[in-house]
Amino acid sequence: MRQALFSFAPTSAAGLFGYRPAILQQCARAESFHFVPTLTRAVNVLASGEAPLFLQPFLAGGVSIALAKPNRGVRPLCCGDPLRRLVAKCFCAGGSGEISTKFQGKNFGVGCPGGVEAVAHSLRDVLQKHRKSGLALLKIDFKNAFNLLDRNWFVEASSKMFAGLERWTWWCYHQPPLLVYDHSRQFFSQSGVQQGDPLGPLYFCCGLQTLIDQISELCPVYQKWYMDDGGIVGSPELLLKVWEILKTGGEPLGLHLNPAKCEWSWLDPDCSLECPIANVPITPTDKIQMLGVPLGSAEFTDEFVKNDLCSATEGVMSKLVEFEDTQAALYLLRLSFGICRATHFMRTTPLSLWSNQANKFDTQVGHTVFHCLGLKPTPEAYEQASVGTTIGGLGIRRIVDHAKGAFTASWHEAQGVSKESWTNVFLERDCSNTYESQQTASTKTDVLIMSKLKEAAGPRDAQRLSRLDSPHANAWLSARPSSMDGKDTILSPKIFRVAVARLLGQPVFSSSAPCPLCEQNMDLFGDHSLCCKKSGDRITRHNNVRNLVFKLADTGLLAPELEKLGILGPTDKSRRRPGDVSIKHWSLHRGLAIDVAVICPLAASHLHSSEPCESYAKTQKTDRYAPAFEKSDYDFAPVVFETSGAVNKEGESVLKQIIRFASKREGITHTVFAARAWARLSCCVQYSAAQQILNRDYVDLTEVANTLI
Ligand SMILES: [Zn+2]
Repeated sequence: MRQALFSFAPTSAAGLFGYRPAILQQCARAESFHFVPTLTRAVNVLASGEAPLFLQPFLAGGVSIALAKPNRGVRPLCCGDPLRRLVAKCFCAGGSGEISTKFQGKNFGVGCPGGVEAVAHSLRDVLQKHRKSGLALLKIDFKNAFNLLDRNWFVEASSKMFAGLERWTWWCYHQPPLLVYDHSRQFFSQSGVQQGDPLGPLYFCCGLQTLIDQISELCPVYQKWYMDDGGIVGSPELLLKVWEILKTGGEPLGLHLNPAKCEWSWLDPDCSLECPIANVPITPTDKIQMLGVPLGSAEFTDEFVKNDLCSATEGVMSKLVEFEDTQAALYLLRLSFGICRATHFMRTTPLSLWSNQANKFDTQVGHTVFHCLGLKPTPEAYEQASVGTTIGGLGIRRIVDHAKGAFTASWHEAQGVSKESWTNVFLERDCSNTYESQQTASTKTDVLIMSKLKEAAGPRDAQRLSRLDSPHANAWLSARPSSMDGKDTILSPKIFRVAVARLLGQPVFSSSAPCPLCEQNMDLFGDHSLCCKKSGDRITRHNNVRNLVFKLADTGLLAPELEKLGILGPTDKSRRRPGDVSIKHWSLHRGLAIDVAVICPLAASHLHSSEPCESYAKTQKTDRYAPAFEKSDYDFAPVVFETSGAVNKEGESVLKQIIRFASKREGITHTVFAARAWARLSCCVQYSAAQQILNRDYVDLTEVANTLI
């Protein structure tokens, strides 16, 4: 129950009673005596179909939403009650193994991760193998399938397949549940699988299965379904029988064939015969597509990707450029529809068939990123931006770099999913014979790009690039800019821009000018700003990080103390305070004194050190203070951050432990909390460093005035 409850997204919406799943999650987290056991009982009562029937119209009903479709149609959505969805999620989680087994190879739309890819790759293989044969492909379309499927029928069919589900299904569907549209209009869900029911797709597939089984008995060359999308390959005679089964068998179940939207394709491109089924249009062999995957010629594929990916993305990209909030724009870009869609094509369609569109897309995305940031797209910066954030890029990966790895991974994985084995007939540059996960392949590509950049770079840039490849250093780049746990991860546009400019090695000032604070000449890249001893900037930077470490320790109930005096024992009269944050009870009989420092790895004194945070921690901290601590009740631990975000090993290990304490207290999944904590630390370092630069940035106003005139 707990696992199912926490699988709701934090933003998931409410049903008719107006409360969101997040409320239930919050209550569960608070660990009261009664909440979780009571909720579990409620879930069990509902699941067993024994809940009071007067609740059914509301609990099984939902809030109805109508979205406009581009073709002036309406796409109805519905959001069901959190409790109802919770029960359904419990069934899905508890029965996932059984669901997968029952639909294995029969319907790739339920309990089958990677189903779309398996269906598409498999069909591509069949089309290729039987090209020039007399076979044909019949693609099926039902009229409004989910909404018209007979309710009594799927309740019966699903109860037969999954007996444990029977009573719950009955409770939800034995009388029409209530839907409310626009806060005022009420109507009832009368037919079909209900929108907003997480079990809906499962019910639908149960209802359809008997027809699929009948077709299987005819032994077609190929038959694969993804929910209501089906494709069957066989001789024309066999396909006529299939049509008859679906027509006569489907009608009583509420499944009505829609001939105008079905498709018939001869596998032999030279075949010019008519379609033997009335009103079913012919789709030429080189224009076949399945589940949004183009399977036809290179021209067709190119055109398909152009319409489906590039045109749709253009609008989104131009809107992102207009965003005031650069950090949010970049975050949204990485999650955007376009990037997801590009991944879909990379995994399902050999790149050589759409490389022109891929190039265009890459260029457009790169252009958008640099426009959003207001930075120059130099070739080096563009290369660096294209690698993953973990090793120092912006995570805007290019299709051309990663498509082969993605396609290879998907093609091999899909054979496992479909339990089939296909021959690799693709070009060497599209698909490799050796399997490697997409992630492994992409990481290798990223490393290669970065190492080329390092090779060509001067000493400063080489140091800048190599210090980025460090655990947690770039957590600020992938952090969700949200204020749910404080404002640490929200970086203002100017701060964010400066931080990215530093990351990419771009100038942060327009011309070399004297530092307004110490009057030394400043470099264009902001290195002086980070080391300038005038003003309290460096102390502020240090204190920001120190305070955050304190906050995390405090969350973990470690009773931390700030700048504790006399930590080296009563005999120490020096008034030195090497314990920025001290924790009295850290290990048995020993406390821990944490000393925080932030240094710039590009400063002259660190430029030639391979790991500045390590050498600084040793020479400036441990060697200096550790001996004095041996006689005290505390252990000493330096936490040294570089302005790149890297942190010394000992510091990392201390922070890890503090974060673990904090996550236990908060009751949030450890990995989620930890990722967030590192993002906050990383943002804190970037914010402080960028602010130091901005404190020294001034614009000559007479010049601005002149340009305005
Ligand atoms: Zn200065």
